[in-house]
Amino acid sequence: MTETHDTGTPQPPTPPESGLPGKMGYDPEGVESRWYRHWEDHDLFHADENSTAPPYCIVIPPPNVTGSLHMGHALNNTLQDILIRWHRMRGDNTLWMPGTDHAGIATQNVVERKLREEGLTRDQVGRDAFVERVWSWKRESGGTIIRQLRTLGASCDWARERFTLDPGLSNAVREVFCQLYEAGLIYRGDYIINWCPRCQTALSDLEVEYQEQDGKLWHIRYPLVSGTGEVVVATTRPETMLGDTAVAVHPEDKRFTPLHGRSVVLPIIGRTIPIITDTYVDPEFGTGLVKVTPAHDPKDFECGLRHGLPQIKVIGDDGRMTEKAGPYAGQDRFACRKGVVQQLEREGLLVKVETHRHAVGHCYRCQTVVEPSLSRQWFVKMGPLAEPAIQAVESGRIRIIPAQWEKTYFEWMRNIRDWCISRQIWWGHRIPAWYCDACGETIVARHTPPACPRCGGSLRQETDVLDTWFSSALWPFSTLGWPENTRALRVYYPTSCLVTGFDILFFWVARMIMMGLRFMGDVPFRDVVIHGLIRDEQGEKMSKTRGNVIDPLHVINGATLEDLLTGAKAGGAPPPALDGLRRQFPEGFPRFGADALRFTLAALAGQGSDVKLSVKRIEGYRHFCNKIWNAYRFAAPHLVDADLQSVGVADLPLTLADRWILSRLNAVIRDVTSGLDGYRFNDAASVLYQFLWHEYCDWYLEIVKTRLTGAGDDADKRTARILLTHVMDQALRLLHPIMPFITEDLWQRLPHDGLSLMVAPWPQPQPALDAPRAVAIMDCLMNVTREVRNVRSGYNISPAQRVPLLIRTANAEQDATLADCREYLVSLARLSRFAFGQDLAKPALAATVVLQGLEIYVPLEDVIDLTAERQRLEKELAKADAALERLAKKLGNAAFLGKAPADVVSRERAAQAELAETQTKLKASLAHLAARVKSSG
Ligand SMILES: [Zn+2]
Ligand SMILES: [Zn+2]
Repeated sequence: MTETHDTGTPQPPTPPESGLPGKMGYDPEGVESRWYRHWEDHDLFHADENSTAPPYCIVIPPPNVTGSLHMGHALNNTLQDILIRWHRMRGDNTLWMPGTDHAGIATQNVVERKLREEGLTRDQVGRDAFVERVWSWKRESGGTIIRQLRTLGASCDWARERFTLDPGLSNAVREVFCQLYEAGLIYRGDYIINWCPRCQTALSDLEVEYQEQDGKLWHIRYPLVSGTGEVVVATTRPETMLGDTAVAVHPEDKRFTPLHGRSVVLPIIGRTIPIITDTYVDPEFGTGLVKVTPAHDPKDFECGLRHGLPQIKVIGDDGRMTEKAGPYAGQDRFACRKGVVQQLEREGLLVKVETHRHAVGHCYRCQTVVEPSLSRQWFVKMGPLAEPAIQAVESGRIRIIPAQWEKTYFEWMRNIRDWCISRQIWWGHRIPAWYCDACGETIVARHTPPACPRCGGSLRQETDVLDTWFSSALWPFSTLGWPENTRALRVYYPTSCLVTGFDILFFWVARMIMMGLRFMGDVPFRDVVIHGLIRDEQGEKMSKTRGNVIDPLHVINGATLEDLLTGAKAGGAPPPALDGLRRQFPEGFPRFGADALRFTLAALAGQGSDVKLSVKRIEGYRHFCNKIWNAYRFAAPHLVDADLQSVGVADLPLTLADRWILSRLNAVIRDVTSGLDGYRFNDAASVLYQFLWHEYCDWYLEIVKTRLTGAGDDADKRTARILLTHVMDQALRLLHPIMPFITEDLWQRLPHDGLSLMVAPWPQPQPALDAPRAVAIMDCLMNVTREVRNVRSGYNISPAQRVPLLIRTANAEQDATLADCREYLVSLARLSRFAFGQDLAKPALAATVVLQGLEIYVPLEDVIDLTAERQRLEKELAKADAALERLAKKLGNAAFLGKAPADVVSRERAAQAELAETQTKLKASLAHLAARVKSSG
């Protein structure tokens, strides 16, 4: 199943095209596939189990073999790839273990649908031929999602790709089944299970989807056997009364004490059934009397076991009433419901009908109403497996991140029920059990037994297969070779981290923990990272029928409007959604590229929150790609030769701007590293965005430009060129895990060592280059320059015209800072005159800005328009007033104060104080201006 392509002789890693990237900005076309192929050709995804480096391993949540990449996969796999690429660059022995899941019911349904198109059913084809058809479908179409993961840039070790039904994993499944059976942890029993009459199979509790529906609550009269008196029970499923074997009351419900020990006659059927007492009855619900149907209700089933009640199955596996249903035998269950109600009414036994909103279970596959039903199934006894799995999380051997999910995990694990593992389908691991009809013996074995060991009679194998989640529960060790004691297993187990959505925390994560502890004696992973759901920008769940689904492949490769419409129509989007698409994307999507999509997903993946995705955001991060591309285009003619790279940057004659950018780079290295280390992907992304766009590109490159083209000395130009190259090299490394393609492409164009950026060392901060003073000065410089530029655009002053600048400071420290940035400020803000001081008088007529305690004046005697300036100040003041009001409301809100983290509250308080100061100063300026207008007018 692994995709192969002609690798030939690996090409040396030369930049793919000579010359500069196109002027039109970054175009991912060609770039992404070229570098992906380069990585594969050089085997860079492959983990060497003989390496002595510290191991780092993630097993992929195996996508269904029927699947195709949706945005949820894109998020899940982007986050994994970020961690994997980061650890690989850190020099860890890094393995990302890929594979697919055979997805029992889902895959069987796909092939059954194809059969139906040929006018066939699976029973006509027969089991063996059907399973063969599924395999051939899998060989032809099963690799789609793996190809799509490559498009996303996933750096999985494809040589190790596994499939839950391949021989090795099937062997592991059989071994686990046999060991659990031998330990008494697998048993066969009658049990109440969720049954889908359409799919003809048992469903696990988790495969049932509950939907709130308006139903009815029928109150039915059951006469007492004595002939006088009656009880009234309430039910939402009156047809099940045909299978009632008791009526129950709460033992302490005083209303019914006289009924204890008596019996009633079951209407329609005429069976005498006892009135029993049981604490599971809720005296508040309905009449406080409960009909007990052990064969068709999970709680009644348990109650029936406690009281030794008969279990009478009145609804068959096909959804029709059985012969036990008396006059209704053979009827469909819903027709029977109608008939029963009518008959009760006729006989005067229907007391009343109430409307009743309640949750009704539906099959997650076909949406048929699920029938709780008695059935002979295979089970895993969960209690003994759950206990150590609870301890593993309690003791911190496994961390669940964010921790809020731990509570959910404990709640579920402490109320765990036995796991029904048999499924009445054909596609899956057939249960290794054989029955002897001659003597009734059941044999569970690793290898097919030739005959009954007790009587020598012939055997028939169990026809059921195992729940798909049974094999995926073994995934972290079965993929590494268990039950063989392989080197891979010894090196990579326990794995480091599991990245997954919360929806499979129980289906999958909890079961992996239980199985790992049982069969490996150790946890399967150290960290479980739970990410949110993908939603649209309004926060609505993405769904095909809503038509708000964004297809990751459309985003990566581009799509015409026709493509978008076709995709939406295929999913059943309603006409208004299609019109929305036509309006919003008349041109379709451009090729945004995998990097832009990955960056968007990382930037939106805040811990504990859902990802509100919009095409606008993706477009924004495509601009980010362009920005980086253009930075390279600017830098390209100035990049240093490879030999200059070895010069230690600390030894160069550094300017203020150099010390600033190196110090900021140090901080960014620390912040990105700690962001990734804490699984705060969004923090890492935003730090990089801010640094590359707003510091490196907007300021450093601009400052360097004047140095390179100006009349400065050669030593300074050389320093500028070295730093230009150095900072770009380091930033590309830091960005690589999130945006692997553009970073590789540009890094290959810089002077570099090695085959690929993906195996280049992760940057380390150099404490000697920390320069907090330079950072403070540059911050002030950038802020003041920005304000002067705002004044220019506010008054329509040409960028070429030099302007004077006066700043009133509040303390000596500010004076010192301004003195240090004088030279840059004059050049960057294009000043004709610059003065500052604590007792500087406010000029008569000036544009005024208040910034972090500085009062900035741009005297504009000749150009200023008094009315415009007053309007501007009034607008600013209104803005400050509104912002203050908002903050006051928020900080006066007890709910906000109760919920918000302390640092958020204190940040808001600080903002409030600063705004109040701004407000005061603006008011003063307005008063000043008014006085000025009066005196001059
Ligand atoms: Zn179904
Ligand atoms: Zn036998």
